[in-house]
Amino acid sequence: MRKGIREAASFSIRRKLTIALLFVGIAPLGAGMFLAYLRARADRQEYVGTTFMRLAKEKSSDIDDRLQGMIQEVRELARHPEVVAGVVSANRALEGKSDSEILREMKEKDEEWLQSGETGGLVTSVLGVPTSRLLRAYQDRHAGEYGEIYLTDRWGGTVASTTRLTDYYQGDEGDWQAAYNRGRGRVWVEDRGYDRSAGSYVLGIIVPVMDEREESLEGILKANFNVMGVFNRIVRATPGTSEHCFIARSQGTVVVHPERDPLSVRLSADMHELTTSISAGWAAVRSEEGMRVVAGYAPVSRSLVVRTGPGRWVPTWWYVFCQIDEREALAPVMAALWGSMAAGLCLIMAIFIGAALFARGFTKPVRRLVEGTERLARGELDHGIEVTGGDEIAVLGRSFNYMAREMEKAHTELAKANRGLRKLSDAKSRFLSTVSHEFRTPLVVMRSYADILAKKKLGNVSGEQVEKLKVIVRLSDHLGSLVDNLLDLDRIESGKVKPKLKAVSLSDIFEESLERIAPLANDKEIRVKVDTDGPVPDVMGDEERLVHVLTNLLSNAVKFSPDGSTVTVRARGRDGMVQVDVEDNGIGIPAGEQSMVFEEFHRVPGKEARPGWGAGLGLTIVKRFVEEQGGRVWVESEVHRGSTFSFVLPAAPGRS
Ligand code: ADP
Repeated sequence: MRKGIREAASFSIRRKLTIALLFVGIAPLGAGMFLAYLRARADRQEYVGTTFMRLAKEKSSDIDDRLQGMIQEVRELARHPEVVAGVVSANRALEGKSDSEILREMKEKDEEWLQSGETGGLVTSVLGVPTSRLLRAYQDRHAGEYGEIYLTDRWGGTVASTTRLTDYYQGDEGDWQAAYNRGRGRVWVEDRGYDRSAGSYVLGIIVPVMDEREESLEGILKANFNVMGVFNRIVRATPGTSEHCFIARSQGTVVVHPERDPLSVRLSADMHELTTSISAGWAAVRSEEGMRVVAGYAPVSRSLVVRTGPGRWVPTWWYVFCQIDEREALAPVMAALWGSMAAGLCLIMAIFIGAALFARGFTKPVRRLVEGTERLARGELDHGIEVTGGDEIAVLGRSFNYMAREMEKAHTELAKANRGLRKLSDAKSRFLSTVSHEFRTPLVVMRSYADILAKKKLGNVSGEQVEKLKVIVRLSDHLGSLVDNLLDLDRIESGKVKPKLKAVSLSDIFEESLERIAPLANDKEIRVKVDTDGPVPDVMGDEERLVHVLTNLLSNAVKFSPDGSTVTVRARGRDGMVQVDVEDNGIGIPAGEQSMVFEEFHRVPGKEARPGWGAGLGLTIVKRFVEEQGGRVWVESEVHRGSTFSFVLPAAPGRS
């Protein structure tokens, strides 16, 4: 128990202190690390984002340059003397004819073209002209970049071509008309969408062919570019990483992708939103493949047109996206985080050990104090505790030592006084027993002579003399019982006589006690009845003392009850104990006196306390006797209503 208290006390302070110190150490460390991580993450994102934005911008300007370059190339081709000569001679063949004649001729040739299949006369002649060979040679020189290239006269009839075109007459095509521009001519770049046979998105560049002096429009040259072939080099991915660049249109379709078939991917909603921006930027978004990425983006500055219906075009913008998986981008930050977490863990362990040591050191003086208190409680008054330092606990320790010294002094003095008292008490006992014995013998003699005289055994005495002699007998009895009480009390206090505990039947005790107080009860015509609730268990007690206790309680009850009333004795067993109540309807005891009636020589003051009726020792002896037998006694009372004196004693084992 004592050990438990010490452990609970010292260890809980130690634990609390350790936890508090740990918390004070760890909380700022954790918060600092978390903030540093957030900051590093944002910085890294910004760094990677800006790098990729720069890359996207470079790529977009490369694309722009390449587009301009290609337009330039096609324009150069349109200026080639053989190309110009080809269209000029075709136009010359139609000179002098009316527009309707020419249109009819075109339709007829279109028919012939259709019917001539792959290698019919007209097809073969067109594909066989030197200009067609020139165009094919040109196409071969730029392997993979060019799709079909063809040339028409100023009316739209095919003059030369790299491949067999579907129609001979091109004059009714929208893009042809756009480049023809009502005879004024202009460069027309058209995003023609995905061409399955080419396996690529296709750009059409259509330019006017002017005469040698660049004055009149002689025809139209159209070249289809395979976007994939041209820009593949620009959008390459970095092997071994998630880093890659691709081109997408503002409509959300992906035009060139280094790793995927463009038809199988689309811009994510996040990315599509970015294509409304007219300038370059970066963002952490969900990618076209559904991953979280850090992406830089930049629009290609030249807008193209997309055909949305016959003769209808809308502008479209290309965007370059350059990106990397967010995890890969943040890898250095995560590595740093793990590193600092490992360092943090070491630090936390160091803090923990430090905190535990500090708490231990801090609570050590408290533990010493607790130990000192326990030794003090065990009576080791000379045990001082070791005090170091000058803090509050040290002050407490010194006070404790001071208190222990004072207690020791007091204890020594008390012991001395006690020894003196014991000597006195022994002297008192000896005196009491000597005086009592010396006193008792003549008292018994005097009483018996008075009794013999009163009974006229030694001769005749007058009635008045008999009365006086009876007073002598009664007062002798009272003195005798006072002496008996004093001797009893002295015997109990000196511990000379121990109770002889054994199983005792309460009914025997009741019978004996009732017999003893019968004369007193009869004198006052008081009925004493025993009221037990079924069989009463035997008690563990000293028979003689129990009779003394009960006789005393009963005689008090009779003494303080009015003539003709009833005194009831009850007994019942409960929870291994037996309770006995002696109830009267007498004068009662005021509340303030009830706890004092058991004190030595205490008598309730008042007119009822008749002198000569006891010395206030009866209940004191009752209390000592009951307690000696392991019981308890108490009173419940109300003035003029009566009193109930009760005591409990342990029931005898195994019997009921
Ligand atoms: P004594 O031996 O003088 O009778 P006790 O110790 O037996 O003294 O009782 C102390 C006092 O308690 C008595 O003087 C009396 O005033 C009061 N007392 C005891 N028993 C009763 C009772 N049953 N009714 C009223 N008063 C009582």
